[in-house]
Amino acid sequence: MSVWHSAVDGGSHQRVLTSSKYRGVSAAAAVSALATGLKPCPFCIGETAGIRHSNLIRECRGLPLSQHLCYKDVRWFHKKTSTVLNSKPVCDRWFATRQINPGLYCIGEIHYWEWNRANLWLIKGQKQDLLIDTGLGVASLRQHIASLIDKPLLAIASHVHFDHAGGLHEFDHRAIHPAEAKALRSGDNHAALCSHELGFVLDEHFEQLPYEGFTAMQYTLHRAEPTQLLQEGDVLDLGDRAFEVLHLPGHSPGCIALYDAKNQELFSGDVIYDGELLDQLPGSDIPTYIATYERLQKLPIDTVYPGHYHTFGCDRYQEIMAEYLEARRQPGCPGEVARG
Ligand SMILES: [Zn+2]
Ligand SMILES: [Zn+2]
Repeated sequence: MSVWHSAVDGGSHQRVLTSSKYRGVSAAAAVSALATGLKPCPFCIGETAGIRHSNLIRECRGLPLSQHLCYKDVRWFHKKTSTVLNSKPVCDRWFATRQINPGLYCIGEIHYWEWNRANLWLIKGQKQDLLIDTGLGVASLRQHIASLIDKPLLAIASHVHFDHAGGLHEFDHRAIHPAEAKALRSGDNHAALCSHELGFVLDEHFEQLPYEGFTAMQYTLHRAEPTQLLQEGDVLDLGDRAFEVLHLPGHSPGCIALYDAKNQELFSGDVIYDGELLDQLPGSDIPTYIATYERLQKLPIDTVYPGHYHTFGCDRYQEIMAEYLEARRQPGCPGEVARG
């Protein structure tokens, strides 16, 4: 029985599934079903023209797609069909940079979904520059910022989620909190929230493509060996200003923020931003998030440069935390239960 009718080899991309399970489903629909975790992989439930996988059938059945032994074949298939699956234009440029002040730039991935588009902060110091977060890693951020870099650069992932740590591998000096170093090192797509079964990386989130043939299905976290681990209390001295590392778990176990006590500026990653806060992701913990906010309430703040959305000041900073704590401390909420 042929699962995929017609043949990739023939160059036709207009294929229709013919197994009893998937009969009549278009290739695009089937692959998008796979991307959202609906299985089994069609390559594992029958013969497929041009793909040798028969000895893998039994092993693959029932596993998440990313763990399929035939996954390489699926990716190969995707390359072949990406013109059908993603007929959007390839962008002229993937990033845009705004200068906030003489020592600070904000870089954004302008063709990616704005609700999950991260703010990538480049801080220019006297002795050293810092890059806080690196985006999805689907285009070269290193090249994009090359003209702005004239000193040693430390690239930091505020945490391992794919919208922040995706491009970290490109940089020579790479830092993350120890709690997420292993996930970065091993390219842990689940911890980074970009495994296919989680369904957070979707084609519809890409208004234009970063490169020809890109599909959300191919997306994985680039593994990278951290060259430096950043822990609570570490100080990054840029010469003319210094940042203290704050370990602020809750959203994820290894969330860090950088705090400039002299200027009362906080580069907060996903710990605090002016939008829906995410505390029920894999790796999130509500009581821990509550404790983090109780700590942050005491921090003197002038400006927050967050991981998403717009910059805000002290009043909004306190308001966001007060609203969160009020909602999460209500009786019956997990935070309240956990606090006993
Ligand atoms: Zn996150
Ligand atoms: Zn994020």
